[in-house]
Amino acid sequence: MVRTILHVDLDAFYAAVEQRDHPELRGKPVLVGGSAKRGVVAACSYEARTFGIHSAMPMAEAMRRCPHAIVVKHRMERYAEASETFFKILHDYSPEVEGLSLDEAFLDVTASERLLGDGPTIARAIKQRVRAETELVASVGVAPIKLAAKIASDIDKPDGLRIVPPEGLLAFLHPLPVTRLWGVGETTRTALATMGLSTIGQVARYPVPALVARLGAVTGEHLAALARGEDSRLVEPERDPVSVGHRETFETDLDDTGELGVVLLDQADRVAHRLRDARLRARAVILTLRYDDFREVTRRTTLESATSDGGLLGRTAIGLLARLPVEDRRGMRIRLCGVTATQLEPRDAPRQLGFDEAARAKGERLGDTLDKVAAKFGQTSLRRAIHLDRKDD
Ligand SMILES: [Mg+2]
Repeated sequence: MVRTILHVDLDAFYAAVEQRDHPELRGKPVLVGGSAKRGVVAACSYEARTFGIHSAMPMAEAMRRCPHAIVVKHRMERYAEASETFFKILHDYSPEVEGLSLDEAFLDVTASERLLGDGPTIARAIKQRVRAETELVASVGVAPIKLAAKIASDIDKPDGLRIVPPEGLLAFLHPLPVTRLWGVGETTRTALATMGLSTIGQVARYPVPALVARLGAVTGEHLAALARGEDSRLVEPERDPVSVGHRETFETDLDDTGELGVVLLDQADRVAHRLRDARLRARAVILTLRYDDFREVTRRTTLESATSDGGLLGRTAIGLLARLPVEDRRGMRIRLCGVTATQLEPRDAPRQLGFDEAARAKGERLGDTLDKVAAKFGQTSLRRAIHLDRKDD
């Protein structure tokens, strides 16, 4: 069966949201990240890319390449909102949506074509709606296989639309470098180069047994099939989220347990808010700490019953912190911490009643009220209120 697969990807997503929300940033090199001194570039505008800057580059290196770049702190809540609208649009064109990240997804629209028009028509409609409803720009690739759809969305960025019809699949793939093949990293690229293979077409024409002899059966056969345009991966609609977490890197390392506790409570509140938003509860809490020497520890515990109460999640995370071995606490300087809620279940699932059920229900009701306050007056007022509450806790 010939499929029609779309890969839709928002252009320079975080940076584009910042430029949309702050018109003074438009047309300027914008770096999204924590600070101009530390960390890595989470995203950058196309204006910054002309200086050779790309995401995941150390911030210091990016600033060296473009000293007048504007660094803005990331605002995950805004990106999550835009992402939600983006995915709602995608779901209007097919139930087969496989999200790869906040701003990127595969769609199988094979079954939608009779009703909504062919792949290119749907691709154009999605681009138009994304622009109208989010003021962001999507690049789309249309192809009979995932591999080609993903390459196609990238190849004409920004604002790209590349159609790869089934009969044009090999003509599209074969001139491309082997690094475009799914699974080809630096090691495989080097191995292929020593065999004189630098394009996908050259791999396709190479005898499969020789590829297998050199790269092993799994990799050899995998690459040979892809190079022939055979990619059997289906679009896999989203599964439920397996965890909800919040983590942040600090501008200056934290060495005060009390201060860290406040941050953990705040993170737990954000996690709880997202759980309630998704009508979920969590049964397990994970604390993540990264020290100034980049050592990372995670500690996990299971709750007596599932909850979406930020206070309980936060106290649990602080409890995990307190139970760290002395050598992990003494003189600790924390660079990053995070709270993750996992073992999720629907909020309306039946649950076992514990002796502290009343307290837990009260915590969750408080959370619901606070969510309503936040919806009305904004998240900042909400967090301050929670911290005031905690003082008499
Ligand atoms: Mg993107």
